[in-house]
Amino acid sequence: MTETFVSHLECSLTGKRYEARQVHGLSDAGRPLLVRYDLEKMGRAFTKVDLAATREPGFWRYAPMLPVERPENRVSLGEVVTPLIPLQRSAAALGGRPGKAIVKDEGRLPTGSFKARGLCLAVSMAKEFGLQHLAIPTNGNAGAAMAAYASRAGLRSTVFCPDDTPEINVREIQQLGAQTWLVNGLINDCGKIVGGGKEAVGWFDVSTLKEPYRIEGKKTMGLELAEQMGWKLPDAILYPTGGGTGLIGMWKAFQELLALGWIEGHLPRMIAVQAEGCAPIVEAWKSGAEHAPLWENAHTVAAGIRVPIAVGDFLIIRAVRESNGFCMAVSDDDIMAARDLVAREDGLLLCPEGAATAVAYQTALETGQISQDETVVLYNCATGLKYPMAPVERTINRFQPVAYDMF
Ligand SMILES: *Cc1c(COP(=O)(O)O)cnc(C)c1O
Repeated sequence: MTETFVSHLECSLTGKRYEARQVHGLSDAGRPLLVRYDLEKMGRAFTKVDLAATREPGFWRYAPMLPVERPENRVSLGEVVTPLIPLQRSAAALGGRPGKAIVKDEGRLPTGSFKARGLCLAVSMAKEFGLQHLAIPTNGNAGAAMAAYASRAGLRSTVFCPDDTPEINVREIQQLGAQTWLVNGLINDCGKIVGGGKEAVGWFDVSTLKEPYRIEGKKTMGLELAEQMGWKLPDAILYPTGGGTGLIGMWKAFQELLALGWIEGHLPRMIAVQAEGCAPIVEAWKSGAEHAPLWENAHTVAAGIRVPIAVGDFLIIRAVRESNGFCMAVSDDDIMAARDLVAREDGLLLCPEGAATAVAYQTALETGQISQDETVVLYNCATGLKYPMAPVERTINRFQPVAYDMF
């Protein structure tokens, strides 16, 4: 057994302490639990030099900053350090300066999305605790990542998707070994079915923020970004926000890195981007509220951020406020136009959720909320290949002479 530096778990709302090394879901207050570490001890035992020397691939290089105790419980499918790709021509077309907007391309992770980070950790911890059967509600990517890591770990998985989840995601989940169900509702309706089966079926609920470890997995986005950028963080991070695990996880990473003394100075402004058809966090933030009520009739092409209600709403809003950031809603038409632009001008196929951050960048440059001098990171959370694209309509009949003047 290797040592971890976990000291305890803590209710994110009330601060109440919970024992580590026990299975937990939400706190008694019904809110997410955060993993807390003895950072002084961690800082003495694990340094930047140790990190630079590690041979662990992908985000497992941060294993000493994570909660998994036994190395054999680190479930792995070949995670990689995802690249930072500065936008060139498309940055200029968005109104910025080439190179100032950098895409963190998370589509290169196993199952093609950054959900791999959170679910890899959640499944590794489930394995450590000896859990047998995991269940999750999903708009697609979380279910695929859970199915993949659960199968890899030899655990059973059951997944519930809204019945309008894109076919490719639903089939991927089933193919990866999960018993997969379509539900005539939204992700929160699927979540109710998962919650209702905890007693009856005995599965473990891996819903967004309803167990403590997906945040720790998403925290590696913040650790990785800091290391990649030479421990100098960007001026702003634009994050397509659904349940908010990534934004909360990165903010937690930055606090831990500050406490360790690995970074200093200003933290990035955290900018939560949502779709106009599902913008509960944006509305709550605008009205000065801490919590966001359920968004009725949620709809957007960016399925990953179609989350009508989030248990971690107040954590997202706090991170945005503490970082001096803001929230913005963008339209589906603008999202699709930005996806086309970045693909055409820079050869990078964003997912709609990633494209939403490009729209927010463009709008924020126009309103002056972001300046051209600032370095910003846009999160492309999934591979663009999982989403519908326009069909090709040009055809050539090889039995006819080719009219070369048409090219
Ligand atoms: C899940 C998901 C999001 C939202 O991530 P959260 O951290 O839950 O807010 C954004 N984009 C894609 C593609 C996703 O799968």
